[in-house]
Amino acid sequence: MGYKIVIGLGGNALGNSPQEQKQAVKKTAKSLVKLVAQGNKILVGHGNGPQVGMINLAMEKAHQVDENIPAMPFPECGAMSQGYIGYHLQNALRNEFDRLGRDVPVVTVVSQVLVDENDPAFENPTKPIGSFYSKEEAEKISKQNGYVFKEDAGRGYRRVVPSPKPVDIVEKQAIIQLYKGGNVVIAGGGGGIPVIKKDGQYVGVPAVIDKDFTGAKLAELVDADVLVILTAVDQVAINYAKENEQWLKTMSLEDCKKYIEQGHFAPGSMLPKVQAAMSFVGSKPGRKALITSLEKADEALERKTGTWIE
Ligand code: ADP
Ligand code: MG
Repeated sequence: MGYKIVIGLGGNALGNSPQEQKQAVKKTAKSLVKLVAQGNKILVGHGNGPQVGMINLAMEKAHQVDENIPAMPFPECGAMSQGYIGYHLQNALRNEFDRLGRDVPVVTVVSQVLVDENDPAFENPTKPIGSFYSKEEAEKISKQNGYVFKEDAGRGYRRVVPSPKPVDIVEKQAIIQLYKGGNVVIAGGGGGIPVIKKDGQYVGVPAVIDKDFTGAKLAELVDADVLVILTAVDQVAINYAKENEQWLKTMSLEDCKKYIEQGHFAPGSMLPKVQAAMSFVGSKPGRKALITSLEKADEALERKTGTWIE
């Protein structure tokens, strides 16, 4: 085989707490190392929802209890999550490579991802982060900090941040060189730390970039053959979770468009994966995407399962 692949790891590859994550990454590392053993060159991206949520909440609570503990801005929380997840993945991958006597270097790149300050997402923040507040508390904080709050399913008010599309990866040259040099590179974690360009300077902004879209961007930058999105299901289905559910082996770009219009993919879960796959596959002839589970990644690359978008 021997594909150049960019992998997007879903929430199930990491778990929700440091204890869970330390366990989960052992299994994740086994799956990833199998792909390297198959002859593929891998670049690994991952989500960070629970992790950045935990860090942000902890820092917020600490600052509430003791004002000497500084308030931690959201982009910094994202950077912390990249380092923390990168550490666990590096640790598990190193151990797994060592166990197999393979001297493959592994590195994490703290990644800033450029977004457009005119992205329409900034007009309509949708991603909830941090604690729940009463209406009065939310209004007070909103006046102080300019945060936007929205009511969250009857549970109270929560800060919301926008989810803009990735435009470019600031560290792309370093990532490309490391990848070409034979490193297993972990990059674009959590979709990347969102930055905008202001007066010629990159500036971090409170936002959440979808990790599946950043994966597609990374795959374009390193000129990957396959964008591999690993999640909790082996394949993509139409009529998902209905009695006429049908698992798909392949989808053309036309199929994807049609199924999206027919509403087969849930927004916030399968939809961004299919959209990310479409954007990579449509970016150059020959590029393919694969959506499958972490457990079946190696088999799916041999076309025994998974949903291929081509
Ligand atoms: P991740 O953490 O990997 O991003 P998500 O939960 O966001 O995972 O998205 C994957 C989930 O999307 C699957 O586990 C499945 O429950 C759900 N899903 C929604 N629509 C579909 C579909 N049409 N086919 C397969 N899975 C779907
Ligand atoms: Mg998701």
